[in-house]
Amino acid sequence: MQADILDRDIKFLPGVGPKRAELLKKELGVTTFGDMLSCFPYKHVDRTRFYKISQVTGDLPYIQLEGTIVSAGITGSRRNRRLTAIISDGTGQLELIWFKGLRWINDLVKPGKKFIVYGKPTTFNNKVNLVHPEMEDPAKQEKQIKSALQSFYNTSEKLKNNFITSRVIGKIQNQLLKLTYGKIKETLPERLIGKTGLMNINDAYLNIHFPQGTDKLRKAEARLKFEELFYLQLNIVRQKAVRKDKVKGLVFSKVGDLFNDFYHNHLPFELTEAQKRVLKEIRKDTGSGKQMNRLLQGDVGSGKTLVAVMSMLIAADNSYQSCLMAPTEILASQHYGTLKKMLDGLPLEIGLLTGSTSKKQRRVLHDRLLNGELKILVGTHALIEETVQFERLGLAIIDEQHRFGVAQRARMWKKSLHPPHVLVMTATPIPRTLAMTVYGDLEVSVIDELPPGRKPVATAHYYDTHRERLFGFMRKQIASGRQVYVVYPLIRESEKMDYKDLEDGYESITRAFPPPEYVVAIVHGRMKNEDKEIGMKQFAGGNAHILVSTTVIEVGVDVPNASVMVIESAERFGLSQLHQLRGRVGRGADQSYCILMSSHKLSNEARHRIKTMVDTNDGFEIAEADLKLRGPGDMEGTMQSGFPFDLKISHLGKDSRILEYARQQAIEITEEDPLLEKPGNDILARQLRKLNPELEEWSRIS
Ligand code: ADP
Ligand code: MG
Repeated sequence: MQADILDRDIKFLPGVGPKRAELLKKELGVTTFGDMLSCFPYKHVDRTRFYKISQVTGDLPYIQLEGTIVSAGITGSRRNRRLTAIISDGTGQLELIWFKGLRWINDLVKPGKKFIVYGKPTTFNNKVNLVHPEMEDPAKQEKQIKSALQSFYNTSEKLKNNFITSRVIGKIQNQLLKLTYGKIKETLPERLIGKTGLMNINDAYLNIHFPQGTDKLRKAEARLKFEELFYLQLNIVRQKAVRKDKVKGLVFSKVGDLFNDFYHNHLPFELTEAQKRVLKEIRKDTGSGKQMNRLLQGDVGSGKTLVAVMSMLIAADNSYQSCLMAPTEILASQHYGTLKKMLDGLPLEIGLLTGSTSKKQRRVLHDRLLNGELKILVGTHALIEETVQFERLGLAIIDEQHRFGVAQRARMWKKSLHPPHVLVMTATPIPRTLAMTVYGDLEVSVIDELPPGRKPVATAHYYDTHRERLFGFMRKQIASGRQVYVVYPLIRESEKMDYKDLEDGYESITRAFPPPEYVVAIVHGRMKNEDKEIGMKQFAGGNAHILVSTTVIEVGVDVPNASVMVIESAERFGLSQLHQLRGRVGRGADQSYCILMSSHKLSNEARHRIKTMVDTNDGFEIAEADLKLRGPGDMEGTMQSGFPFDLKISHLGKDSRILEYARQQAIEITEEDPLLEKPGNDILARQLRKLNPELEEWSRIS
């Protein structure tokens, strides 16, 4: 087969060479022609307009003009050394000034030479000039691929210091396209292109870098986004199909005594309709003979734990063991306590394994897991260590999935001779598009209903100047027996500034709520564990009116009597964090409140976040907004596990329609030709193999 022109080493491109190639590799990860062409511009700027010098004023944004150099010369010495050139276009004269690279520019701007000049006008001493403008030789431009839209590329400090600016990258792309245009092999099957009406690969690359009109630019973007998302989905969808086919699932054939006894004699309340529906879905999966891989999403407090417990009872009824893994020790012990209490009286052994389990206890646990005595194991990461093996593990449940990495999830598969059913749970709602990608090979269940009797939390936004009003509200709530959280942002554990905010805040609150009438507790990350515990217990036990804290309370605290959540500097929190914090209140029967405090100075984005919180309690809506604002890489929920895809051109928040469409195409192709053997589909197999091999590995195990 003929070598692909895009696989050529970038150092062989005229004008690049080994030194620049090294830099491009280090800074942008570029090694081949293809890599370089896939460094897409982040914006395009209209360059059709030329200004006349007589029109130029100091307050204009970037301008472009064409003229002839009248004179040029270096003046001043040392720090004041500068090169000044005068350019004229017949309507007037303009000063161009440089402070750096003088020798090189001096050779360039000879009197009588013509230039296209691009820069931002500034005014100095009542005179308009351009400082460090870009200079282009119109004659040289003749030989370039032209476009009315100039592309702007991401660079880095290091690249810029080596004169590889956005503009230089543009020149490299130009060079590259002159060489490759028309020779780039198509990467999507003809049939798919025909069916979808997408632009071909050669025109797509040409028009993304050098748009031959805005319409063509839009088509190029659509094609490249589709391709990116299509291959992502094709990989996920195929892996899912292959796995379904290959891995035999354990069969939980019946619902037995343990489940029924619990359901009829132990369950303290009615299940919500959503809980019932999800349990049915799980029942169906685990009885089907296929391995279950299911994601259970449900907002904070929606009752996921109960679903987990009842699923584990079904496993036990079929003589299988289960495990439940939680991200923190606090949460694991809390689950263990809940399970012990809920299942009290049932003939079922439960164990707890965390980092603080002693060696001796561990040995006992290991033995009892291997001989099958222990039916349920609750724990932290400690649970996935290789030494932990089960006799017959039938169901592995992971709570707060987003706090674990994918690899950790995968290790659950190897805990027993046969891979267990897997249920992962998360309270961080994931927008559909993200779920389709990050968890694209899992079935999804949603608990979209809170247990009855919960009142939605009322949310308000106060400016710092209204602190007295806030304090008044807090006093009223405390007088009626409620407790109040006051949370300060702690972006980085190490930042002294944040602690200063917290300490100042604590002082001002104790001044406004003085002892002995009021008790104010404080908890933050710098305190010793015992001290944290004391503050926490004081508040949880109802012995403090106010808890001042950092976000350490985000996970694992449950104080139903606390009905007010005050979030200080709310503009500094991300949306999902705000939502998680708000989830700490609204657990009891009383009306709860969340008050977002902020300064008057708000960025548009912060204002939007706060408004979203005030407008809705719906975790999914909030997650969608978050995705649109920030993009998937920064989303809580993917951040910890690391978003595994490096999307070059598409945006999961903004390109959801293309994504849905691409996924649909991927599903159709997979159903029709799972092994990608049909004529024309070999292109797909080849591209998949070429794309990130880690990706393939990743999908198989999740
Ligand atoms: P999460 O989904 O956040 O993990 P939990 O499972 O911790 O939520 O449940 C939150 C609270 O709601 C618990 O105190 C639990 O006992 C209670 N709960 C769960 N299901 C129901 C129900 N159907 N009716 C009433 N209360 C319920
Ligand atoms: Mg939970």
